Amino acid sequence: MVKIDNILFEKSINILKDLISFKTISGENNSSIINYCENILKKCGASSFKVFDQDKKRVNLFATLKAKKSNKFDPIILSGHTDVVPVSKGWSSDPFVAEIRDDKVFGRGSCDMKGFLACSLAFAEVFSKSSLSRDIHFSLTFDEETACIGAPLLIKELKKRNITNGICIVGEPTKIKIIDSHKGCYEYTTYFEGLAGHSSKPNDGVNAAEFASRYVGKLMKLRKELKNRQPKNSIFDPAYSTLSVGGIFGGIAHNVIADKCHVNWETRPVNKEDGIFLNHEIDKYANELLTEMKKKFSGSSIRKEIIGEIIGFDRVTNSKACEFVSSITGDNEREVVSFGTEAGLFQEIGISTVVCGPGSIEQAHKIDEFIEISEIKKCLFFLDGVKNKSIIN
Ligand SMILES: [Zn+2]
Repeated sequence: MVKIDNILFEKSINILKDLISFKTISGENNSSIINYCENILKKCGASSFKVFDQDKKRVNLFATLKAKKSNKFDPIILSGHTDVVPVSKGWSSDPFVAEIRDDKVFGRGSCDMKGFLACSLAFAEVFSKSSLSRDIHFSLTFDEETACIGAPLLIKELKKRNITNGICIVGEPTKIKIIDSHKGCYEYTTYFEGLAGHSSKPNDGVNAAEFASRYVGKLMKLRKELKNRQPKNSIFDPAYSTLSVGGIFGGIAHNVIADKCHVNWETRPVNKEDGIFLNHEIDKYANELLTEMKKKFSGSSIRKEIIGEIIGFDRVTNSKACEFVSSITGDNEREVVSFGTEAGLFQEIGISTVVCGPGSIEQAHKIDEFIEISEIKKCLFFLDGVKNKSIIN
């Protein structure tokens, strides 16, 4: 196992325990965890700014340790989300009280992804005492688990402040392996409103459930088309953009014409074009349906709500970020994953990005989520490499 300074290790574990104790389930107020992190970074001399959501309830933090001497190298962004997924029953211990058993730290978020945050925060002091030749940024977002709601607000601000270069390391659990690509994940709910009536006179109403089922039929047709559009040499599995209906909800009784119905659906596009194509086609079809509905009842409506659109993360042949990580870990392999991350958002504004962090995705979102202590050590070792690559010898 790699050798890591004991004080630094202890510090990481203590910070991780603190981070787990904040019940930062997506959608909830995360200001206390953000203040906690900001405090640690400020003590190390970082400057920072926050980006709030509309209700000022949830917040992103972006902090910077400035280069000390020359600013010779590309800045590094260490990026993580502060939210965790909800807990279900069946935990062996309190999910929000970290517990160490069998060389593992148990707790919600321990692996996804407070372990990475803890290591980065603990390492901030080491960075601050080094003669850095590049800026080191810390990006902490809210609501990643609910289709990346927080990060786009931060990205907008980064663009405004001209922070659009450098290398971003998204510390999602990959066991410090390089992930350089994933599909997008777009989630939608489409609401149909027609006119209720007695089922014995179907022509007197507008049946939202029936129009919704035609809409679903169209989605199924488009699903086939997406398959036909499969790009050559696709690196994904399945190789094409997928589409899935998560649920259809509507109606109140057998003998009542359903006036309301909604459809939950999602697509995982392999490229942006497929997302644009699909949305264009389904919206066009919805308009046709709506015209038909309105002929009978002018108050009819169809509304497609975007739950979230996590953009894909594209493989880049000569990726600065991947090369940087490889130069530290010695591992040149590049892998593809099936889960979405904030990586595509950073990539989109020109920042070379890689997904690489401690812990295994196998343990994420599960009952008795944990991170192995050895992964924490691996991450600290990795950050030590980041430090070494950030100073001129
Ligand atoms: Zn995550």
